[in-house]
Amino acid sequence: MEDDVCKHLEAIKTLKHPKDYVCEECIKTHDEWMHLRTCQTCGVTLCCDSSPNQHASKHAKEAGHPVVISAEPGERWLWCYVDEMMAEY
Ligand SMILES: [Zn+2]
Ligand SMILES: [Zn+2]
Ligand SMILES: [Zn+2]
Repeated sequence: MEDDVCKHLEAIKTLKHPKDYVCEECIKTHDEWMHLRTCQTCGVTLCCDSSPNQHASKHAKEAGHPVVISAEPGERWLWCYVDEMMAEY
């Protein structure tokens, strides 16, 4: 039996939205990014896997923070890196 939603996504009650539309790591090194994701554990906004530095997935692994939302305007979804599962909101 497979659950529809993973326990990480189920645990999210209120969404953390981006404070700024920048990758907080890329701006330190003047790197570029494609899209932005906001960590739902600590609220940091970082770049997606299509970006050269892939800061959001590195952060998920290193910090153990499983869930991000898309920080792109108009996109309304969450992603769990552990279960590789998406949910809309
Ligand atoms: Zn999960
Ligand atoms: Zn980045
Ligand atoms: Zn985090």
